Amino acid sequence: MIKRKKTKKIRVGNIYIGGNAPITVQTMVKTDAHDVKVVVRQIKESEAAGADITRMNVLDMESVKNFSKIKKQIKIPIVADIHFNYLWAMEAIKQGVDKLRINPGNIGGIDKVKKIVSLAKEREVPLRIGINAGSLEKDLLEKYGGHPAPEAMVESAARNIKILEDLDYDQIVVSLKASDIQLTIQAYQLFSQKYDYPLHLGVTEAGPGKAGIIKSSIGISSLLLKGIGDTLRVSLSADPTEEIKTGKEILKFLGLKKGPILISCPTCSRTQYNMLALAEKIENFLETIDSSIKVAVMGCVVNGPGEAREADVGIAGGKKTGALFVKGKIIKTIAEKEMFNELVLMIKKIIEKKEKD
Ligand code: SF4
Repeated sequence: MIKRKKTKKIRVGNIYIGGNAPITVQTMVKTDAHDVKVVVRQIKESEAAGADITRMNVLDMESVKNFSKIKKQIKIPIVADIHFNYLWAMEAIKQGVDKLRINPGNIGGIDKVKKIVSLAKEREVPLRIGINAGSLEKDLLEKYGGHPAPEAMVESAARNIKILEDLDYDQIVVSLKASDIQLTIQAYQLFSQKYDYPLHLGVTEAGPGKAGIIKSSIGISSLLLKGIGDTLRVSLSADPTEEIKTGKEILKFLGLKKGPILISCPTCSRTQYNMLALAEKIENFLETIDSSIKVAVMGCVVNGPGEAREADVGIAGGKKTGALFVKGKIIKTIAEKEMFNELVLMIKKIIEKKEKD
C-alpha cells in the first residue's frame, strides 16, 4: 500500500487535486483551438476514455474567447494554458475556465499578476505553476553550473510561489517537468520535501509511442511509489485518449485506482491457440468496465492456471479446448471457439458477486 504524502486540497471545477482526493489523470486538447466543434469532439473522446481534466493552449484572444462555448458542452474541468499575456489570462478566467496554468514570473510585472490573482480569487480559480527544465531563468542556470539542476527548478518554483503567496494567494498546484527522467524525479522529490502544494506529475517531451509510454511510466511511477503526486499527465506524441489510457493503467498497476487488470503470459512453444487475438478481445472488453477484477489469458493449460493464480478468473487454451479457472483452480473445460464468451460470462458473474458482497 502506497502512503501518499499529504498535500493541500485544491478545488478545480467539480473535482479536487491534493489532500486525500483520488489521483486524477489529465490530457490536453491537440486540435486547433479556434474550431470549437472539433475541440469539443476531442474532449468528449477524452471524457469517454476516462479523463478527469483537460487543458488547452491558446495562441490569441480569439481562441481564449472560445472557452465558455467549449465549457458548456463538456463535463470535465478545463484548464487554460497561458504564457506571457495577462489579458488572455484575465479573459480566460472571465470565460469560466476551471484552472489556469501560468507562471507569474513571466507575465510582465507584478501589477499584471495582481490583476490576475485578484480575479482568480474572486472566481475561485486555482493556478498551476508549471516549471519546465527547458525554460529556466538564466540566473538560475548560471547559479547551478549552466545546466538545469533539480535545485534550480525548485528555486524557480519557489520564486513563482512567493509572488503568489505575497499576494495572499495559495490555491496553487505545481509541476516541475523535464524530459530527463532522473532530473524530473529529483526535482519533484526536492520540492515535496519543502512544500505541501499538490503536484502535477509529468515527464515532458516524452516522445512517440512505446518510448514515450516507457519514459513517462518510469518517471511518474517512481514518484507515485514514493507517495508523491496528486494529478498526472502522460505527455505522448499521440492522441489524448492514449495519454489517458496510459495514465489510468499506471494508477491501476500501482493500486492507486480501481479498475480491471489483464494478466497474460508471453506465450511460448507450448501455446497451441491464437492467444494474442483472445487477449486483445478481452482487453477491449475490459475497457468497457470499471470494476476491480484481475483477468488472465494464458497460453497453455499446463502452466497457465498456476502461473496466473492471483487472477480472479482466467482462461488457458490448449488444442481445440481451453480451461476456465478461478483463483488458479480449473472449474470447466470448454471448446476453443467458446473461450471468449465463457470468460466474459464468468467475469460478469464475479463482478456481480463482488458488488453484492
Ligand atoms: S503459461 Fe504456458 S504458454 Fe504461457 S508462457 Fe507459461 S508455459 Fe508458456
